[in-house]
Amino acid sequence: MILDKEKLRSNLDKIIWDIEEARLKRSEHLIVQLCVVSKYTEIENIKTLYELGQRNFGENQVQQLEARNKALEDLPIAWHMIGTLQKNKINKLIDSNPVLLQSLDSLDLAEALNKRLEVKGKKMSALLQINSSGEETKSGVEPEAAKDIYQEIQERFKNIELKGVMTIGAHTDDAGLIKKSFETTYQIFDSLKNDGATICSMGMSSDFKLAIECGSNMVRIGSRLFKD
Ligand SMILES: *Cc1c(COP(=O)(O)O)cnc(C)c1O
Repeated sequence: MILDKEKLRSNLDKIIWDIEEARLKRSEHLIVQLCVVSKYTEIENIKTLYELGQRNFGENQVQQLEARNKALEDLPIAWHMIGTLQKNKINKLIDSNPVLLQSLDSLDLAEALNKRLEVKGKKMSALLQINSSGEETKSGVEPEAAKDIYQEIQERFKNIELKGVMTIGAHTDDAGLIKKSFETTYQIFDSLKNDGATICSMGMSSDFKLAIECGSNMVRIGSRLFKD
């Protein structure tokens, strides 16, 4: 559904207000970036949000990221890959020049990605995805192994520039459990600051306020922004 500019402006304003409120609860020094998740919306809405000042957009499929990157190449949009990356899509992703791969979810994928980056003489910034809820359906490394894996990637895969961590909150109505998954991730992020981690990406439409209160400095928001 294509939304008019005033509708998108009002949705965006409410979200920015909520982000502001949540970050002040955590710390006045916390700066939170918004990554607009455009995976379920039309390209027209992306253009309108661009006009409203948004620059960071996330897609969860390489094909769509590639197509939109092409269709909107005149706009200096920073594309984020936020979905599970299949190894046979690595080349396509590299060619789309994403600003950040948020979903680097295994050592195995890091190795394959690094190999392709080397061949192409390119680098890619990435976040290590953490399965902080322990749900089997979710991708990501186990929290207990995260720090070692992060350091191993830094050590071995020089074409990948790790910038921090990403997680998806527990899929439940129990705010306590969601909070726990964010706290787990924040602790890992905190322990990696000495290794250069600067981004802690957590929080979506339903839980971004809680995520920010737990220290998130990047939220990924889709459905709430595009509801009419
Ligand atoms: C879809 C998606 C989001 C956005 O979810 P909404 O609930 O629509 O805000 C955030 N992160 C990831 C990894 C997603 O796949």
